[in-house]
Amino acid sequence: MPEAPSERARVHRLPERAAYDRGTIEAILDEALICHVAWTDGEGRARALPTIHARVGDTLYLHGSRAARAWRAVAAGAEVCVVATIVDALVLARSAFHHSMNYRSVVLYGHGREVTDTDELMTAARAITHHVLPGREAEARMPTTEEFKQTILFAIPIAEAAAKIRTGPPKDDEADLELPIWAGLLPVETRDGAPQPSPDLLEGIEIPGYVVRHHR
Ligand SMILES: Cc1cc2nc3c(=O)[nH]c(=O)nc-3n(C[C@H](O)[C@H](O)[C@H](O)COP(=O)(O)OP(=O)(O)OC[C@H]3O[C@@H](n4cnc5c(N)ncnc54)[C@H](O)[C@@H]3O)c2cc1C
Repeated sequence: MPEAPSERARVHRLPERAAYDRGTIEAILDEALICHVAWTDGEGRARALPTIHARVGDTLYLHGSRAARAWRAVAAGAEVCVVATIVDALVLARSAFHHSMNYRSVVLYGHGREVTDTDELMTAARAITHHVLPGREAEARMPTTEEFKQTILFAIPIAEAAAKIRTGPPKDDEADLELPIWAGLLPVETRDGAPQPSPDLLEGIEIPGYVVRHHR
C-alpha cells in the first residue's frame, strides 16, 4: 500500500483506492473545476464553502472577499481541509446497496498563508484565471492594487494530502447477478455549452480561440 503523509490523511476504507503521490494529487486538483474548503471558526463551529482554486507547483491558491469573516478566520490561522472532487460515472448496481460513483477526489489539510507579496499575488491571480479557463489569463485585465486590497489570497502547501479513486463496473453480490435488473456505468462529464457573448460587449469582438477550442 502507498504511504500516507500523515495518519490523519490515510484512507481507511478501501485503501487500495488511495494514492498519495504528487502527480495523482496535482492532476485531480488541476482538473476539478471547484473545491470545497472546510475549517472551524473562532467559536468552534464547522464551516465550509465551495470556491475556485488554482495550483502552482506544490501550492494551492484560494481567494475570497476580504469582507468575508469566514476567510478572515483562515487568514488568522484556522486550519483548512480542502476537498476537490471529479465525478466520472454513476455506478448503477443491481442492488441499491452497491450503488456508487466512479470518482477522483483529493483531501488536503493545511494552513492558509495570506499572500501579500505583489509578485505572488499576480502569480496567484493569473493561476486562478487560468484555472477557470486556460488562455483567459493572457487576455483578462489583471487586478489593480485597489482590487487586490479587497481580496484575500491564501497559499496552502500541497503536503498533507490524499487522493482516492474509484474506477470500474458495479460490484454486486454474487446472488444478485441473477436478477433481471440492468446494471452498469453511466459516464458523467462536465461540458461547456455554446459561448454567450455579453450583452454589453463592444461591437466587432470575436469569440477568442481559447473559448471556442474549450467549447469544442
Ligand atoms: C463523489 C463521491 C461520493 C462518495 N459517496 C460516498 C457515500 O455515499 N458514502 C460513503 O461512505 N463514502 C462515500 N465516498 C467515499 C468517501 O469520500 C470516503 O472515502 C469514505 O466514506 C470513507 O473513507 P475512510 O474511512 O477512509 O475515511 P476517513 O477515515 O474519514 O478518512 C481518512 C483520510 O482518508 C482520506 N480520504 C478519505 N476519503 C477520501 C476521498 N474520497 N478522497 C481523498 N481522500 C480521502 C483523507 O485524507 C482522510 O482524512 C464518496 C466519495 C466521492 C468522491
